[in-house]
Amino acid sequence: MMNYDEIMKRLRDSQHDLNAVVTFYEDVVLQAEQAKNKVLKGMPIVLKDNVSTKGVKTTASCKLLNNYVPVFNATIVDKLQESGAVILAKTAMDELAMGGTGLTAYTGPTKNPYDATRISGGSSSGSAALVGAHLVDVAIGSDTGDSVRKPASYCGVVGFKPTYGRISRYGVVAYASSLDHVGIFSNTVAQSAELLSVLQGRDDKDLTSLMSPVEDLSDLSLDLKGKTIGIIKEIQEAKSDNALKLQFNDFLKQLEAQGAMIKEVSLDRQLLEQMYAVYYIVANCEATANHASLDGIRFGERVNADSYQEIMTKTRTQGFGELLKRRFVIGAYGLDDVHQEEVFQKAQKIRRLIVEAYDKALSEVDIVLTLASDTVAPKATELKNHQSLDEMISENHLVLDNFAGYPSITIPLGFDEGLPFGINLAARKLEDKKVLAFASAFEKLIAFSELEKGVNPWIMK
Ligand code: GLN
Repeated sequence: MMNYDEIMKRLRDSQHDLNAVVTFYEDVVLQAEQAKNKVLKGMPIVLKDNVSTKGVKTTASCKLLNNYVPVFNATIVDKLQESGAVILAKTAMDELAMGGTGLTAYTGPTKNPYDATRISGGSSSGSAALVGAHLVDVAIGSDTGDSVRKPASYCGVVGFKPTYGRISRYGVVAYASSLDHVGIFSNTVAQSAELLSVLQGRDDKDLTSLMSPVEDLSDLSLDLKGKTIGIIKEIQEAKSDNALKLQFNDFLKQLEAQGAMIKEVSLDRQLLEQMYAVYYIVANCEATANHASLDGIRFGERVNADSYQEIMTKTRTQGFGELLKRRFVIGAYGLDDVHQEEVFQKAQKIRRLIVEAYDKALSEVDIVLTLASDTVAPKATELKNHQSLDEMISENHLVLDNFAGYPSITIPLGFDEGLPFGINLAARKLEDKKVLAFASAFEKLIAFSELEKGVNPWIMK
């Protein structure tokens, strides 16, 4: 039996260095008792704090929800516990999952496990950091734009977002419903597959949950010989010529040596240039609608005042951080009667064009492969406010898989000056097993667990 006291102690001690946890579970030994003889065999896990947990605070790292205790479990929580996972903690995140830094939680910034001056990425910052520090092998996150796959790259772990609707979102605090996915962090691809096996499947409580039958993920073996790996020309060209790209290109040669074919595919640059604006509009409009109920009357810690109007205004003014308020202004603008057609609806139309173009590129290959980020985790003090068009494309293309709802996985490739970075693999709808199988084959070639031995401070501790 695992020593849960020891695991919890390490987790608590990590707060000083990582600040990755919002709430620790108190009933871990009891959970472990109940997990006996179940498939996950007491596997320790942590959950992003936007996953509703019955009787356990669920804040989504938002001050307004700092006292919110759900009266029900998200479907994935029931599934995890029925399968014998042991939940240790709820993890810090960017407030309401909006953001990509891990700096906006009301409990303070999450630190990168490799270097405390750097960000862990977000919004699933705490989950990524704890897996990167090997304090747990697996964690749950959510991914609306890249919030599992980008922090995975920054923390040197696997980050997987399956097909839209493959994992139930019932009970996961919504951000942008047409883009939100539950995602999985792990140290190996096999662990992600193991968790997906338990989490996947239709849930009648989530109307976007898929009806299609689930895949058996127990055998991920794959021969790379004759397989076609797609490189999207316009994305590859937008990436900086740096050490990451050099290692990426070396890896392509390794794939060719295994008999895989590298094929360049194209995606209209003009569409790619619209990608982030379209994302920003769709995500913020949907978020504004979804979060209208956080008003101190239906949900959230109330700031008292004389009228409903004033209660709502004061509650929201004091309860949300600056980034959220900015985004809600944009969302409200895009949704109001005067602008809805030219802003929100237009963005949806361009989204459709982008998905069609992406789908066409994917139809020519088995998978597409990219660098998950142009850089290693930036320093918290060196974050950029403005990006060139090339930077915008090379830092945000993972959003394509949210637009389309396609399976997408980041796995670590290597290091640059002691900091990890990852590559991303994606395929078409329902090809979850395929991306896992490719990722597993790549993982064997890369052998990251060997590479990190001399570098990851948490392994050397
Ligand atoms: N960084 C993106 C945003 O702020 C993605 C967030 C996410 O995937 N939850 O919207």
